Amino acid sequence: MNEEAERLKQRGEPVIHLGIGEPKNKAPINAILNSAAKLNTGDIKYSPTDGILSLKEAIIDYTEENYNRIPDPDNIIVSSGAKQSIFNVLYTLLNPQDEVIILAPYWVSYPEMVKMVQGIPVIVTPEDGGLHPRMKDILQAVGSATKAIIVNSPNNPSGLVFSDEFLKELVEFCEKKSIYLIVDDIYHKLVFDERRPVPCYDFTEKEIDDSKIIVINGISKLYGMTGFRIGWAIAPEKLVRIMTNVQSQTTSCASVILQAAAEGALTGIQSIVESLRLTIENNRNVIMKELEAFNGVKVTKPGGTFYCLPDFSAYHKNSVELSELLLKRALVVTVPGREFGMEGRLRLSYAGSVNDITEGIARIKWVLDPESPNEIYIGNRKCVRDWL
Ligand code: PLP
Repeated sequence: MNEEAERLKQRGEPVIHLGIGEPKNKAPINAILNSAAKLNTGDIKYSPTDGILSLKEAIIDYTEENYNRIPDPDNIIVSSGAKQSIFNVLYTLLNPQDEVIILAPYWVSYPEMVKMVQGIPVIVTPEDGGLHPRMKDILQAVGSATKAIIVNSPNNPSGLVFSDEFLKELVEFCEKKSIYLIVDDIYHKLVFDERRPVPCYDFTEKEIDDSKIIVINGISKLYGMTGFRIGWAIAPEKLVRIMTNVQSQTTSCASVILQAAAEGALTGIQSIVESLRLTIENNRNVIMKELEAFNGVKVTKPGGTFYCLPDFSAYHKNSVELSELLLKRALVVTVPGREFGMEGRLRLSYAGSVNDITEGIARIKWVLDPESPNEIYIGNRKCVRDWL
């Protein structure tokens, strides 16, 4: 779908992208200056496999400030994006046929990565038809082969921030049953309505080395630095040692120039994160207003990220076909809910401009809702609906 959208764009078609998974802001100036300074030295070599110490120190400060825990440098491994961090963790933890509980709706890469390392993804869908995971559904899915549970809150694709009660129960359960809890916190500061991200460590007394919690984070989403490809994992030292072995035989280390950029982002002016958060919160309010006025569409208000996952099943049960239809008729890119384990829904991103959001939703309405105006302008082309 993305390729088709790109092809249409190249032809000059007025495509609106509500599928994007990255903020539009430029990289923070401190990230650029720090990486440029490193590049200017001309001394661009391998770094230690698990990351340069000065970046690890910045990650330690970040973790102390945001997670109330002070990791040791040996509890940290820096990788080429949070994606590689998650892969390293799964490769390290899983033996063939080990099971990993994945909570639907889920980020598309989790089940694929589990399968790549010969594990078995066990998808848990809330039985009540909602988007918030429930402990009782998880308990039914846990068995003797369960090695880990992955949790991602704020959540891609639903935008939901999971309740403190749920996270507390999940942490306590994992610590008690010796099941690893992989906490993908890549969106953790992108939360709205004056909520504060609650770190999972708040729900355990254990030190990082004794705990089952593994925290994944990075600079991609909060700092709008997806192209810099730096992420990290915080885990017990014994796991970090194995992950370091894995990484040393695959990529050796993350690029030193990009590690310098990440250090710049973490140690530089932090108001950039807050200003991004405020922009996205405003966009969230805009998209909610549009969707709430959309006949037949059910939407749960997202508490974070830049996604929502409205239910369009009143119009079309097959999300792949619906997504294709919207691209063909209205030049709007969406992501089918099926890819996230939730059929009948579409993931809409509000990381773009307010104009894109309002026009994108107006075009979707025009395609689907017979009560919406019959004529619309797409770019400077007047389009008349003749299929409802
Ligand atoms: N985790 C989630 C839930 C994501 O949505 C993404 C990116 O879309 C990632 C991890 C990967 O982040 P990175 O760009 O740091 O690899």
